[in-house]
Amino acid sequence: MTLSEAELERYSRQLVLPEWSGGAQERLRDASAIVVGAGALGSPAATYLVAAGVGRVGVVDSDAVELSNLHRQPLHFTPDIGGGKAESAAAKLSLLNTEATVEPYPVRLEEMNAAAIVAGADVVVDCSDSFSTRYLVNDACCGERVPLVEAGVLAFSGLVMSIRPGESACYRCAFPTPPPEGSVPSCREAGVLGAMAGIVGSIQALEALKLLTGVGEPLLDRILQLEGASMDQLIVTTRRRDNCPACAQVPATAAVGA
Ligand SMILES: [Zn+2]
Repeated sequence: MTLSEAELERYSRQLVLPEWSGGAQERLRDASAIVVGAGALGSPAATYLVAAGVGRVGVVDSDAVELSNLHRQPLHFTPDIGGGKAESAAAKLSLLNTEATVEPYPVRLEEMNAAAIVAGADVVVDCSDSFSTRYLVNDACCGERVPLVEAGVLAFSGLVMSIRPGESACYRCAFPTPPPEGSVPSCREAGVLGAMAGIVGSIQALEALKLLTGVGEPLLDRILQLEGASMDQLIVTTRRRDNCPACAQVPATAAVGA
């Protein structure tokens, strides 16, 4: 094991887990993650990835911090209003874990740059808030064979699924077509509670840590649906589609630890 004294102390409470090990911690340190969106889901997701010791975390967001963001996006503080979200998030995350390299990407993820942003990452955590971005991220991750954690949150409802391209169902396998324009309300219209987004974003981080270390069983071919108001939860199974335009031709990636 090559963890330093400081790393052994910083990560001591997870290193003591029977399922964890110095090897899992070293895999995290060598890993690179991309978090798309530094908002309600991205705040908790990026925080827990950086805190857990993922060596390199890129945060992609082109928006500026607004007053109405603060109730659900706890990486941004009141003095950050008007500044860039990617930079605001990266500043906090760098202070949280000085062992990690945090890179702000103050750009909008679009068709022309999606593949370049996700290429080379060991995991992508999609914390975007639009269906069009979600399909773009899914397709780019399938094309680049990068494992992905997808999620959405609205009002009291949340959804999470993990994807190993070529091995498990992708987002497009599970949801072949986007909902018709205007049929699903936005957070601005339907509202969302910060604590609910915090739960879903934390689950995304947990899934990403499982994908990166090989510890535990990620939500592959399974979609977790959470209803925060009642705390009901449901796991729906899904599977790859032979004709999926995003992943049908993708060869399987080597699983971590295999
Ligand atoms: Zn697919």
